[in-house]
Amino acid sequence: MPIWFPYTRILWAPTIVYASLALVAVGIVNRMLSELQVCLSVIVGFMIWTLFEYLVHRFLNHPPPSRAWLDFDNHHYHHKEPENPCEFVYKLKHSLAASFCVLGVWCFLAPTWAYGLAIMGGFWIGYICYEWVHLFTHLPSPYRTSWIKRLSALHHRHHYEGIRGCYGFITSIWDRIFRTYL
Ligand SMILES: [Zn+2]
Ligand SMILES: [Zn+2]
Repeated sequence: MPIWFPYTRILWAPTIVYASLALVAVGIVNRMLSELQVCLSVIVGFMIWTLFEYLVHRFLNHPPPSRAWLDFDNHHYHHKEPENPCEFVYKLKHSLAASFCVLGVWCFLAPTWAYGLAIMGGFWIGYICYEWVHLFTHLPSPYRTSWIKRLSALHHRHHYEGIRGCYGFITSIWDRIFRTYL
């Protein structure tokens, strides 16, 4: 058993739930859309997730002091105890409630609800990636691959250089586009 395995226990439930939801979503839309349409929609959903995590982290988790109430998931506790996964992994009931609200938005905005569901499949995959990457960026360094080491260095700049940038978790694309890359 890999030595990092026990650290990941907190992510088993969300991973099983969201991987299952993503598989069911793709299974349903596969009957209504072509394989290419499903693939592109899932990729779009994944990219939307990367923008979503950036915007939530930048504007809701780190609002100006006058709007501190926007930090709905108490992200400031994560900054006080960065190595404690209980302070940064979303509670399943909260993420599920948010998920179905977001699914409603995609189904409303997309050309058909099938596209909305396929986009949500990619969004859920992005969410799983986010939780795993964030967990590994805070694990002791021997457990990081070189890719995680790069992301970890960026995320540690976010934590330890005055919270001025590096708001992305699984990609730095949006930090580079919006000039918050440190
Ligand atoms: Zn933060
Ligand atoms: Zn962190």
